Amino acid sequence: MDFLLWEQFRIHETLGLDSAEQRDIIQTNMANARAWAEGPLAQSYKETDEQEAYLADGKVVLPDSYPGLYQGFSEMWTQWQDGAAQGTAMPPIVQNLIIEMFMAGNASFMTYVGFSQPAKSLLRAHGSDDLNATYGPALQDMRATACLCITEKGAGSDLSKLSALATKQDDGRYLLTGHKWLISAGSHEMTDNIYYFVLARTDPKQTGMAGLSCFLVPRYRIDEAGAHRIDNGIRVNEVVTKMGFKGCANTHLLFGEDGVETQAFLLGRMEGTGLQQLMMMMKPARISTGIFALGLASSAHETSVAYSQQRVQGKRFDRAMSARAPSLPIAEHPDVRRMRLDMAAYTSGCRAMIARLGLYQSFEDDPSQPEDLRRAADDISEVLLPIVKAYTSDKAWVVCETAIQTHGGVGFTRDYPAQQNARDCKVLSIWEGTNHIQALFLFRDKLGMCVQPKRLNTLRAAIEDTLARAEATGALDKDVHNLRDALAALGDATAAARDCVRYQRMNDVPQFAVELQAALGDIVIAWHLLEAAEIALKALASGDADAAFYADKVDIARHFLRRRLPQSAASLRAIAGEMQDVVATQLAKTQAA
Ligand SMILES: Cc1cc2nc3c(=O)[nH]c(=O)nc-3n(C[C@H](O)[C@H](O)[C@H](O)COP(=O)(O)OP(=O)(O)OC[C@H]3O[C@@H](n4cnc5c(N)ncnc54)[C@H](O)[C@@H]3O)c2cc1C
Repeated sequence: MDFLLWEQFRIHETLGLDSAEQRDIIQTNMANARAWAEGPLAQSYKETDEQEAYLADGKVVLPDSYPGLYQGFSEMWTQWQDGAAQGTAMPPIVQNLIIEMFMAGNASFMTYVGFSQPAKSLLRAHGSDDLNATYGPALQDMRATACLCITEKGAGSDLSKLSALATKQDDGRYLLTGHKWLISAGSHEMTDNIYYFVLARTDPKQTGMAGLSCFLVPRYRIDEAGAHRIDNGIRVNEVVTKMGFKGCANTHLLFGEDGVETQAFLLGRMEGTGLQQLMMMMKPARISTGIFALGLASSAHETSVAYSQQRVQGKRFDRAMSARAPSLPIAEHPDVRRMRLDMAAYTSGCRAMIARLGLYQSFEDDPSQPEDLRRAADDISEVLLPIVKAYTSDKAWVVCETAIQTHGGVGFTRDYPAQQNARDCKVLSIWEGTNHIQALFLFRDKLGMCVQPKRLNTLRAAIEDTLARAEATGALDKDVHNLRDALAALGDATAAARDCVRYQRMNDVPQFAVELQAALGDIVIAWHLLEAAEIALKALASGDADAAFYADKVDIARHFLRRRLPQSAASLRAIAGEMQDVVATQLAKTQAA
């Protein structure tokens, strides 16, 4: 992580964090976060799996350790906020790394605190002054948690099917009826209140995506004096049982139950703008899904590396039958090494991609940064967003599976955590918009159906800068060639997709969207690994570096760019060929007509 901050992204220069004091604060915060993540948080990970959240007498029961963890998290968070108030805020790039440590410690627990920050921003941006004055403080000092409530039993990916209804009363209040389903961290007793940010209709006759509004729906309303909590009629009908994330209570919530009305507070002045408002919550939620995935994957990676170094089994391939040849730690076998390099490439590549997104967020928020830099950062961030969510969660599953394989038989037992990491991480390709929905989002909204190449061109230019530097080392020629080749294949695929759109065959593209997204993800990861290798080669040449650490960076990059990236280039050429066939058939039909 230090390498990322101070060598790859050079935040002392790029973010002007060049004083010894600033560096000290960051290092101290990271060390404290690591101690908590690897201490109490990680110690409760197994318990989280064994004490699945459940419903008893209408209340949700959580793993025993959660109230203590919540208190520990609140104290740390409050301390950081105090630091931020005194002008020593941690930049998003650092926050992302810290949150990764927490996700690696106990991802289920983190669902209870994950929405607090985005909820604060949403309330501040769209809530009335009264609403902020009444409900803001508890969110600020962590006496309330927040949930994002979109999904219903009949409406998952398809929001046009949403049916929860907020009916405006003569006195101007909205009363909510209906249900929400699978809501994460949907109920608990750890805080005074829970705020549900609910997407609902205001007019039952309206259908489709139009007319959806966002409401703040507190579990307890606060009376006008601010002194009393009033039951707001929200009931937990069920806590679902799941294959992973067992400490997270995924709830079926009913509104306006038991004859108790559920009052909902409209965000914004107008009805029907809920989807745009919720984007404020969905964007960080998608990034944090990527960080959830990265945390789980890096935990699986690290435990399997530790195991492979102490498990002694088998001899060198050419001495397998020799009684005198020593048995080796499995880490020394070439195939176990291959698995380690795969895991290391995906985890370190995704970590760098997420760090870049954090860095660019600082650029976007800082008007003193040059305009062209901010614009480029914005273009690249837009392309990276669905990749951070979808690619990282898909690869986390691959990493966890590889970690189980590295362990052999014990990896399949509950004595080792890799299987729990795998079960936990599966949902990350499903929630916050499935990964196929992300791929459609990438193709349609981020790449402008491949008809508007601006964002992709900006990304390509940034990659070209890295390629030029890597080429200058003279030691990465094959890798540079492979990344250029993958970019050329990406060009073929996007050109073919654009032609499908131009020749009225747009509906033929979605079948290739996931492969396009995965290959673009591989290109982005290759870019970051190559950048790290170029820096590592310079450090090695200087002679005073930790040689093993930097040599490993070069090995990881070469492994990925030589053995994984060419597979993506081939995949891109295959889908380009398929789409070209579609266009050729269409043109032949048009000519025949
Ligand atoms: C553990 C967990 C936690 C969750 N937490 C929350 C939460 O806090 N808040 C919340 O609101 N929701 C939450 N959800 C719900 C989650 O967001 C949905 O499950 C998800 O959006 C998918 O919806 P669905 O389950 O109805 O699947 P469906 O929409 O039925 O999708 C099933 C399959 O069909 C595909 N598909 C669907 N539509 C299309 C299309 N147009 N084109 C191509 N393929 C399509 C999907 O990609 C998927 O593979 C959670 C779910 C789980 C499992």
